Amino acid sequence: MSGSGRRKARRVRRFGGVDDLAEARWRAVEARDGRLARVFVYAVRSTGVYCRPGCGARRPLRRNVEFFATPADAVGAGYRACRRCCPERDQIGDPAVASVVAVCRWLEHPDPDRDLAAFAAGLGWSERHLRRRFSEVVGVPVGSYLRAQQADRVRAALRAGMPVADAAYEAGYGSSRAFYDHGARRLGMTPARYRSGGAGERIGYTSTVTPIGVVVAASTARGVCAVRVGSSEAALVAEVAAEFPGALVERDDGGLADIALVLAGAVRGGEDATLLPVDLRGTAFQVRVWEALRAIPGGQTRSYSEVAAGIGSPAAVRAVAGACAANPAALVVPCHRVVRQDGSLGGYRWGIVTKQALLGAEAASRTP
Ligand SMILES: [Zn+2]
Repeated sequence: MSGSGRRKARRVRRFGGVDDLAEARWRAVEARDGRLARVFVYAVRSTGVYCRPGCGARRPLRRNVEFFATPADAVGAGYRACRRCCPERDQIGDPAVASVVAVCRWLEHPDPDRDLAAFAAGLGWSERHLRRRFSEVVGVPVGSYLRAQQADRVRAALRAGMPVADAAYEAGYGSSRAFYDHGARRLGMTPARYRSGGAGERIGYTSTVTPIGVVVAASTARGVCAVRVGSSEAALVAEVAAEFPGALVERDDGGLADIALVLAGAVRGGEDATLLPVDLRGTAFQVRVWEALRAIPGGQTRSYSEVAAGIGSPAAVRAVAGACAANPAALVVPCHRVVRQDGSLGGYRWGIVTKQALLGAEAASRTP
Protein backbone atom coordinates (compact mmCIF):
# COMPACT_ATOMS: atom_id res chain seq x y z
CA MET A 1 0.00 0.00 0.00
CA SER A 2 1.33 3.45 -0.85
CA GLY A 3 1.86 6.10 1.80
CA SER A 4 -1.14 8.09 0.71
CA GLY A 5 -3.22 4.91 0.52
CA ARG A 6 -2.36 4.13 4.11
CA ARG A 7 -3.32 7.63 5.22
CA LYS A 8 -6.56 7.23 3.35
CA ALA A 9 -7.32 3.94 5.05
CA ARG A 10 -6.84 5.44 8.48
CA ARG A 11 -9.00 8.41 7.79
CA VAL A 12 -12.25 8.15 9.67
CA ARG A 13 -15.21 7.98 7.33
CA ARG A 14 -18.92 8.24 7.70
CA PHE A 15 -21.56 6.56 5.72
CA GLY A 16 -25.27 7.04 5.75
CA GLY A 17 -27.98 9.03 4.04
CA VAL A 18 -28.84 12.66 4.06
CA ASP A 19 -32.26 14.09 4.70
CA ASP A 20 -32.42 16.22 1.56
CA LEU A 21 -35.74 17.93 2.07
CA ALA A 22 -35.01 19.06 5.62
CA GLU A 23 -31.59 20.25 4.42
CA ALA A 24 -33.13 22.24 1.57
CA ARG A 25 -35.68 23.77 3.91
CA TRP A 26 -33.07 24.69 6.48
CA ARG A 27 -30.97 26.38 3.81
CA ALA A 28 -34.02 28.47 2.89
CA VAL A 29 -34.56 29.44 6.53
CA GLU A 30 -30.91 30.37 6.92
CA ALA A 31 -30.98 32.44 3.75
CA ARG A 32 -34.33 34.02 4.75
CA ASP A 33 -35.57 32.98 1.33
CA GLY A 34 -38.97 34.64 1.16
CA ARG A 35 -39.86 33.01 -2.18
CA LEU A 36 -40.54 29.85 -0.24
CA ALA A 37 -43.25 31.40 1.91
CA ARG A 38 -46.23 29.04 1.80
CA VAL A 39 -44.14 26.20 0.40
CA PHE A 40 -43.53 25.20 4.01
CA VAL A 41 -43.35 26.71 7.48
CA TYR A 42 -40.79 26.18 10.21
CA ALA A 43 -41.50 26.01 13.90
CA VAL A 44 -39.13 26.74 16.76
CA ARG A 45 -39.37 24.38 19.73
CA SER A 46 -37.86 26.81 22.20
CA THR A 47 -40.40 29.56 21.48
CA GLY A 48 -43.47 27.58 20.39
CA VAL A 49 -43.84 29.88 17.39
CA TYR A 50 -43.93 29.00 13.70
CA CYS A 51 -42.78 31.25 10.86
CA ARG A 52 -42.67 31.31 7.12
CA PRO A 53 -39.23 31.20 5.51
CA GLY A 54 -38.09 34.77 4.98
CA CYS A 55 -39.27 35.94 8.40
CA GLY A 56 -37.00 38.62 9.74
CA ALA A 57 -37.08 37.25 13.28
CA ARG A 58 -33.86 36.08 14.85
CA ARG A 59 -32.54 32.90 13.22
CA PRO A 60 -33.26 29.90 15.42
CA LEU A 61 -30.80 27.15 16.22
CA ARG A 62 -31.07 24.28 13.79
CA ARG A 63 -31.64 21.79 16.59
CA ASN A 64 -34.76 23.66 17.73
CA VAL A 65 -36.38 23.77 14.32
CA GLU A 66 -39.15 21.56 13.04
CA PHE A 67 -40.62 21.80 9.54
CA PHE A 68 -44.25 21.53 8.49
CA ALA A 69 -45.84 21.53 5.07
CA THR A 70 -48.68 23.85 6.06
CA PRO A 71 -49.59 26.31 8.83
CA ALA A 72 -52.39 23.90 9.81
CA ASP A 73 -49.86 21.14 10.46
CA ALA A 74 -47.81 23.46 12.68
CA VAL A 75 -50.90 24.50 14.62
CA GLY A 76 -51.86 20.84 14.94
CA ALA A 77 -48.47 20.20 16.56
CA GLY A 78 -49.13 22.94 19.10
CA TYR A 79 -47.35 25.95 17.59
CA ARG A 80 -48.76 29.45 17.26
CA ALA A 81 -48.27 31.83 14.36
CA CYS A 82 -45.50 34.44 14.46
CA ARG A 83 -46.88 37.97 14.76
CA ARG A 84 -44.10 39.36 12.65
CA CYS A 85 -44.38 37.28 9.46
CA CYS A 86 -48.00 36.15 9.86
CA PRO A 87 -47.39 32.75 8.26
CA GLU A 88 -51.08 31.85 8.43
CA ARG A 89 -51.98 34.52 5.86
CA ASP A 90 -52.03 33.85 2.16
CA GLN A 91 -49.31 35.92 0.62
CA ILE A 92 -48.03 34.40 -2.56
CA GLY A 93 -47.17 37.02 -5.14
CA ASP A 94 -45.60 34.94 -7.85
CA PRO A 95 -48.22 32.74 -9.63
CA ALA A 96 -45.52 30.24 -10.66
CA VAL A 97 -44.63 29.72 -7.00
CA ALA A 98 -48.33 29.38 -6.16
CA SER A 99 -48.50 26.55 -8.70
CA VAL A 100 -45.54 24.82 -7.11
CA VAL A 101 -47.23 25.15 -3.72
CA ALA A 102 -50.27 23.44 -5.24
CA VAL A 103 -47.99 20.61 -6.39
CA CYS A 104 -46.60 20.30 -2.85
CA ARG A 105 -50.06 20.03 -1.30
CA TRP A 106 -51.05 17.44 -3.92
CA LEU A 107 -47.91 15.37 -3.27
CA GLU A 108 -48.59 15.35 0.47
CA HIS A 109 -51.66 13.15 0.01
CA PRO A 110 -50.91 9.44 -0.33
CA ASP A 111 -51.77 8.15 -3.79
CA PRO A 112 -49.92 5.25 -5.41
CA ASP A 113 -51.46 6.03 -8.83
CA ARG A 114 -50.31 9.62 -9.05
CA ASP A 115 -50.26 11.12 -12.54
CA LEU A 116 -47.78 13.98 -12.57
CA ALA A 117 -48.21 14.71 -16.28
CA ALA A 118 -51.97 15.16 -15.85
CA PHE A 119 -51.49 17.43 -12.85
CA ALA A 120 -48.96 19.50 -14.79
CA ALA A 121 -51.40 19.79 -17.68
CA GLY A 122 -53.98 21.15 -15.24
CA LEU A 123 -51.54 23.96 -14.43
CA GLY A 124 -50.88 24.56 -18.11
CA TRP A 125 -47.38 23.12 -17.81
CA SER A 126 -45.53 20.17 -19.29
CA GLU A 127 -44.41 17.53 -16.81
CA ARG A 128 -40.82 18.47 -17.51
CA HIS A 129 -41.48 22.12 -16.77
CA LEU A 130 -43.28 21.22 -13.56
CA ARG A 131 -40.36 19.10 -12.41
CA ARG A 132 -37.88 21.85 -13.17
CA ARG A 133 -39.89 24.56 -11.45
CA PHE A 134 -40.46 22.30 -8.48
CA SER A 135 -36.74 21.59 -8.00
CA GLU A 136 -35.94 25.29 -8.37
CA VAL A 137 -38.47 26.45 -5.82
CA VAL A 138 -38.48 23.63 -3.26
CA GLY A 139 -34.81 22.73 -3.50
CA VAL A 140 -35.24 18.99 -4.04
CA PRO A 141 -36.73 16.98 -6.92
CA VAL A 142 -40.36 15.80 -6.85
CA GLY A 143 -39.25 12.24 -6.03
CA SER A 144 -37.29 13.29 -2.94
CA TYR A 145 -40.20 15.38 -1.72
CA LEU A 146 -42.57 12.49 -2.15
CA ARG A 147 -40.29 10.09 -0.27
CA ALA A 148 -39.83 12.56 2.58
CA GLN A 149 -43.61 12.99 2.90
CA GLN A 150 -44.11 9.23 2.94
CA ALA A 151 -41.42 8.78 5.57
CA ASP A 152 -43.14 11.41 7.72
CA ARG A 153 -46.43 9.57 7.48
CA VAL A 154 -44.79 6.24 8.36
CA ARG A 155 -43.09 7.83 11.36
CA ALA A 156 -46.37 9.24 12.57
CA ALA A 157 -48.18 5.93 12.08
CA LEU A 158 -45.46 3.95 13.86
CA ARG A 159 -45.58 6.32 16.81
CA ALA A 160 -49.31 5.81 16.96
CA GLY A 161 -48.59 2.10 17.42
CA MET A 162 -49.43 0.86 13.94
CA PRO A 163 -47.62 -2.30 12.71
CA VAL A 164 -44.92 -1.58 10.11
CA ALA A 165 -46.74 -3.23 7.20
CA ASP A 166 -49.94 -1.25 7.87
CA ALA A 167 -48.03 1.97 8.40
CA ALA A 168 -46.25 1.49 5.06
CA TYR A 169 -49.55 0.88 3.30
CA GLU A 170 -51.27 3.84 4.96
CA ALA A 171 -48.41 6.09 3.91
CA GLY A 172 -49.05 5.21 0.29
CA TYR A 173 -46.18 2.86 -0.41
CA GLY A 174 -48.54 0.34 -1.98
CA SER A 175 -46.52 -2.57 -0.59
CA SER A 176 -44.16 -3.34 2.25
CA ARG A 177 -41.53 -4.09 -0.37
CA ALA A 178 -41.72 -0.57 -1.80
CA PHE A 179 -41.51 0.79 1.73
CA TYR A 180 -38.39 -1.19 2.56
CA ASP A 181 -36.82 -0.22 -0.76
CA HIS A 182 -37.43 3.50 -0.39
CA GLY A 183 -38.85 4.42 2.97
CA ALA A 184 -37.23 2.36 5.66
CA ARG A 185 -33.77 3.79 5.11
CA ARG A 186 -35.15 7.14 6.12
CA LEU A 187 -36.80 5.89 9.27
CA GLY A 188 -34.14 6.98 11.68
CA MET A 189 -33.82 10.47 10.33
CA THR A 190 -35.14 13.39 12.26
CA PRO A 191 -35.26 17.01 11.16
CA ALA A 192 -32.85 17.71 13.96
CA ARG A 193 -29.70 17.38 11.91
CA TYR A 194 -27.49 20.29 12.63
CA ARG A 195 -23.96 21.39 13.25
CA SER A 196 -23.33 24.05 15.78
CA GLY A 197 -20.38 25.81 14.19
CA GLY A 198 -18.85 22.39 13.63
CA ALA A 199 -18.43 22.01 17.37
CA GLY A 200 -21.20 20.06 19.04
CA GLU A 201 -23.48 17.48 17.52
CA ARG A 202 -26.69 16.34 19.09
CA ILE A 203 -27.01 12.62 19.64
CA GLY A 204 -30.33 11.35 20.89
CA TYR A 205 -30.66 8.02 22.66
CA THR A 206 -33.40 5.72 23.77
CA SER A 207 -33.59 2.27 25.29
CA THR A 208 -35.82 -0.75 25.09
CA VAL A 209 -35.95 -3.84 27.27
CA THR A 210 -35.71 -7.05 25.26
CA PRO A 211 -35.19 -10.76 25.94
CA ILE A 212 -31.41 -10.27 25.49
CA GLY A 213 -31.26 -7.35 27.92
CA VAL A 214 -31.46 -3.59 27.71
CA VAL A 215 -30.79 -2.28 24.21
CA VAL A 216 -29.60 1.34 24.08
CA ALA A 217 -29.74 2.99 20.66
CA ALA A 218 -28.20 6.35 19.83
CA SER A 219 -28.68 8.32 16.65
CA THR A 220 -27.48 11.47 15.01
CA ALA A 221 -29.91 13.15 12.67
CA ARG A 222 -28.35 11.11 9.85
CA GLY A 223 -28.86 7.72 11.35
CA VAL A 224 -27.99 5.23 14.06
CA CYS A 225 -24.50 5.76 15.46
CA ALA A 226 -24.50 3.25 18.34
CA VAL A 227 -26.48 0.26 19.58
CA ARG A 228 -25.40 -1.45 22.80
CA VAL A 229 -26.70 -4.45 24.67
CA GLY A 230 -26.26 -5.00 28.40
CA SER A 231 -27.89 -5.15 31.78
CA SER A 232 -27.58 -1.52 32.92
CA GLU A 233 -29.01 1.30 30.86
CA ALA A 234 -26.95 3.87 32.75
CA ALA A 235 -23.70 2.02 32.04
CA LEU A 236 -24.52 1.68 28.34
CA VAL A 237 -25.44 5.34 28.00
CA ALA A 238 -22.22 6.34 29.77
CA GLU A 239 -20.28 4.16 27.33
CA VAL A 240 -21.91 5.84 24.33
CA ALA A 241 -21.39 9.32 25.78
CA ALA A 242 -17.71 8.54 26.35
CA GLU A 243 -17.38 7.66 22.69
CA PHE A 244 -18.76 11.01 21.57
CA PRO A 245 -17.13 13.39 24.05
CA GLY A 246 -17.77 16.44 21.87
CA ALA A 247 -21.46 15.74 21.37
CA LEU A 248 -24.52 16.62 23.34
CA VAL A 249 -25.94 13.19 24.22
CA GLU A 250 -29.51 13.41 25.43
CA ARG A 251 -32.53 11.20 25.84
CA ASP A 252 -34.98 11.35 22.95
CA ASP A 253 -37.49 8.54 23.35
CA GLY A 254 -39.99 10.27 21.08
CA GLY A 255 -37.59 10.95 18.23
CA LEU A 256 -36.12 7.45 18.35
CA ALA A 257 -39.36 5.54 18.95
CA ASP A 258 -39.31 4.02 15.49
CA ILE A 259 -35.71 2.88 15.90
CA ALA A 260 -36.50 1.27 19.28
CA LEU A 261 -39.44 -0.50 17.69
CA VAL A 262 -37.38 -1.94 14.87
CA LEU A 263 -34.58 -3.02 17.24
CA ALA A 264 -37.00 -4.74 19.63
CA GLY A 265 -38.51 -6.53 16.64
CA ALA A 266 -35.05 -7.48 15.35
CA VAL A 267 -34.14 -9.13 18.67
CA ARG A 268 -37.18 -11.36 18.18
CA GLY A 269 -36.17 -12.08 14.61
CA GLY A 270 -39.20 -10.33 13.12
CA GLU A 271 -37.71 -7.05 11.92
CA ASP A 272 -34.64 -6.27 9.88
CA ALA A 273 -32.54 -3.69 11.69
CA THR A 274 -30.13 -3.48 8.75
CA LEU A 275 -32.74 -1.34 6.99
CA LEU A 276 -32.24 1.46 9.49
CA PRO A 277 -30.10 4.36 8.27
CA VAL A 278 -26.67 4.51 9.86
CA ASP A 279 -24.14 7.17 10.70
CA LEU A 280 -21.11 5.16 11.78
CA ARG A 281 -17.55 6.26 12.17
CA GLY A 282 -14.71 3.88 11.48
CA THR A 283 -11.66 3.35 9.34
CA ALA A 284 -12.23 2.76 5.63
CA PHE A 285 -11.61 -0.95 6.24
CA GLN A 286 -14.06 -1.18 9.13
CA VAL A 287 -16.70 0.62 7.11
CA ARG A 288 -16.24 -1.88 4.26
CA VAL A 289 -16.64 -4.79 6.66
CA TRP A 290 -19.72 -3.25 8.30
CA GLU A 291 -21.32 -2.61 4.91
CA ALA A 292 -20.68 -6.24 3.99
CA LEU A 293 -22.28 -7.44 7.25
CA ARG A 294 -25.38 -5.34 6.56
CA ALA A 295 -25.78 -7.25 3.29
CA ILE A 296 -26.03 -10.68 5.02
CA PRO A 297 -29.73 -11.61 4.94
CA GLY A 298 -31.47 -12.37 8.22
CA GLY A 299 -31.51 -16.07 9.06
CA GLN A 300 -28.19 -16.63 7.29
CA THR A 301 -24.59 -16.63 8.49
CA ARG A 302 -21.20 -16.11 6.86
CA SER A 303 -17.75 -17.15 8.00
CA TYR A 304 -15.07 -14.57 8.75
CA SER A 305 -13.16 -15.76 5.66
CA GLU A 306 -16.26 -15.46 3.46
CA VAL A 307 -16.67 -11.86 4.57
CA ALA A 308 -12.96 -11.20 3.95
CA ALA A 309 -13.24 -12.68 0.45
CA GLY A 310 -16.45 -10.73 -0.16
CA ILE A 311 -14.77 -7.40 0.42
CA GLY A 312 -11.85 -8.33 -1.81
CA SER A 313 -9.35 -8.93 1.02
CA PRO A 314 -9.30 -12.73 1.40
CA ALA A 315 -6.17 -12.64 3.55
CA ALA A 316 -7.64 -10.20 6.05
CA VAL A 317 -9.61 -12.74 8.09
CA ARG A 318 -8.23 -11.57 11.42
CA ALA A 319 -8.83 -7.94 10.53
CA VAL A 320 -12.44 -8.80 9.66
CA ALA A 321 -12.82 -10.44 13.08
CA GLY A 322 -11.34 -7.26 14.57
CA ALA A 323 -13.84 -5.05 12.72
CA CYS A 324 -16.68 -7.27 13.97
CA ALA A 325 -15.41 -6.95 17.53
CA ALA A 326 -15.25 -3.16 17.10
CA ASN A 327 -18.80 -2.94 15.73
CA PRO A 328 -20.43 0.07 17.41
CA ALA A 329 -23.99 -0.82 16.46
CA ALA A 330 -25.34 -4.25 17.39
CA LEU A 331 -28.21 -5.57 15.22
CA VAL A 332 -28.01 -2.63 12.80
CA VAL A 333 -24.63 -4.03 11.74
CA PRO A 334 -25.43 -7.72 12.27
CA CYS A 335 -22.01 -8.97 13.32
CA HIS A 336 -23.84 -11.81 15.07
CA ARG A 337 -24.33 -13.31 11.59
CA VAL A 338 -20.61 -14.00 11.26
CA VAL A 339 -19.47 -17.37 12.59
CA ARG A 340 -16.36 -19.56 12.40
CA GLN A 341 -15.69 -21.64 9.31
CA ASP A 342 -16.37 -24.86 11.25
CA GLY A 343 -19.84 -23.55 12.13
CA SER A 344 -19.03 -22.78 15.77
CA LEU A 345 -20.18 -19.38 16.91
CA GLY A 346 -16.87 -17.57 17.42
CA GLY A 347 -16.85 -14.42 19.50
CA TYR A 348 -19.40 -11.68 20.03
CA ARG A 349 -18.88 -8.28 21.53
CA TRP A 350 -22.06 -8.63 23.59
CA GLY A 351 -21.52 -12.24 24.69
CA ILE A 352 -21.91 -15.61 23.10
CA VAL A 353 -25.27 -16.27 24.77
CA THR A 354 -26.68 -13.15 23.11
CA LYS A 355 -25.27 -14.17 19.74
CA GLN A 356 -26.85 -17.59 20.08
CA ALA A 357 -30.21 -16.08 21.06
CA LEU A 358 -30.21 -13.69 18.07
CA LEU A 359 -29.32 -16.40 15.55
CA GLY A 360 -31.93 -18.70 17.11
CA ALA A 361 -34.66 -16.05 16.86
CA GLU A 362 -33.78 -15.25 13.25
CA ALA A 363 -33.80 -18.91 12.26
CA ALA A 364 -37.08 -19.56 14.10
CA SER A 365 -38.89 -16.57 12.56
CA ARG A 366 -38.00 -17.85 9.09
CA THR A 367 -39.11 -21.44 9.67
CA PRO A 368 -42.58 -21.87 8.17
ZN1 LIG B 1 -42.00 34.96 11.88
